Amino acid sequence: MRAVQKNVPLRNLTTIGLGGNARFFYECESTTDIVECLNFVRKNNLPILPLGGGSNIVFADEGYDGLVCKIGLRGLIFTEERDTTLVSAMAGENWDDLVCSCIEKGLGGLECLSGIPGSVGAVPVQNVGAYGQEVKDSIELVTCLDRNDGSEILFSVSDCEFDYRSSRFKKKDKDRYIVIRVNFRLKNQASPGISFPEVQRWIDEKFGNDFLSYSPADALKKTREAVISLRRKKSMVVDSADPNSRSAGSFFMNPVVSQSLCDRIRASYPDLPFFPAPGGCKIPAAYLIDRSGIDRSYRIGGAGLSANHSLAIVNFGGSAKDVLALAAWIEKRVEKLFGIALQTEPVIVGNNDHD
Ligand SMILES: Cc1cc2nc3c(=O)[nH]c(=O)nc-3n(C[C@H](O)[C@H](O)[C@H](O)COP(=O)(O)OP(=O)(O)OC[C@H]3O[C@@H](n4cnc5c(N)ncnc54)[C@H](O)[C@@H]3O)c2cc1C
Repeated sequence: MRAVQKNVPLRNLTTIGLGGNARFFYECESTTDIVECLNFVRKNNLPILPLGGGSNIVFADEGYDGLVCKIGLRGLIFTEERDTTLVSAMAGENWDDLVCSCIEKGLGGLECLSGIPGSVGAVPVQNVGAYGQEVKDSIELVTCLDRNDGSEILFSVSDCEFDYRSSRFKKKDKDRYIVIRVNFRLKNQASPGISFPEVQRWIDEKFGNDFLSYSPADALKKTREAVISLRRKKSMVVDSADPNSRSAGSFFMNPVVSQSLCDRIRASYPDLPFFPAPGGCKIPAAYLIDRSGIDRSYRIGGAGLSANHSLAIVNFGGSAKDVLALAAWIEKRVEKLFGIALQTEPVIVGNNDHD
């Protein structure tokens, strides 16, 4: 094992740019490296945290008193099998590069997930989704290492217990497995899966009826262009030139509430959008925040809402404490007005009140 680094600043490893130091840090390039990290933490009685692109995590200002293990395993294999292609991607591959490569090859299923930051290994953890697509619909197999003994274990899609921004890796097996490889099954020469009116509108405005004459491969590329353009407008593409993109993406999940609560809210807010979901109705957290009278220019310390997206809390030069105080303030306002407890989407690490 190469030397474990000490006192490594976490803020440089996260998109929100926050967090103190990792007491120990190691960049794993192989499964052997991960197993050695597991042995290291077992021997020293420390916690371990696998880190990908750091785009869905908020570390405490005090840092992480354990080993942060950056998952840098690389490798990408495309195997064509009749009308589909099996894409086997190691966990440290960059997610958006993978999406782009698949689109270049005319493979459909991931195009609406263009522009999402982070690594391949993290996508099953919260069943990444956007613009009507979820990664669960393209995943075939997730290969993990068990943190308890370093053994390899395979999970089929149904084993993963995927749900809205969730999976077994976030729920019952939180902190148990490290994802090392994800296999995707994608359709060859596929037409794009456009189900989101916003994407369709963008395409209609830009390409009109010409879009219908594009080859499937070109249509996938244009769909990627649409999604990235829409995301950019909302500062949902990480860009060092865009201060509003210094975030962890959406800070709150869209709540699922009972039909009766949804009806009660709609009695006062008839324009509340809602979508049928298991257990009731899913309603947009952004609507609740906007209607709670939360001014996007309001700041706690250096934390504020994105000027371009009411779900993103942005680090404009503050601390994790500021971000979490703002999140708590928003949660309180929404709960008071609507009786709904918002759930945070990013993983909050080492901030005792929020763990
Ligand atoms: C601007 C912006 C836009 C975003 N838009 C979207 C969006 O549209 N849809 C969406 O779903 N998400 C979105 N996100 C959130 C985020 O990009 C995704 O959740 C992404 O998959 C996180 O990947 P990561 O590698 O950065 O994970 P990290 O932030 O590094 O880690 C997140 C969690 O996963 C765990 N983890 C990471 N790698 C592994 C592994 N190999 N094995 C086990 N656990 C692991 C970490 O321990 C941590 O608990 C956005 C974020 C930003 C900043």
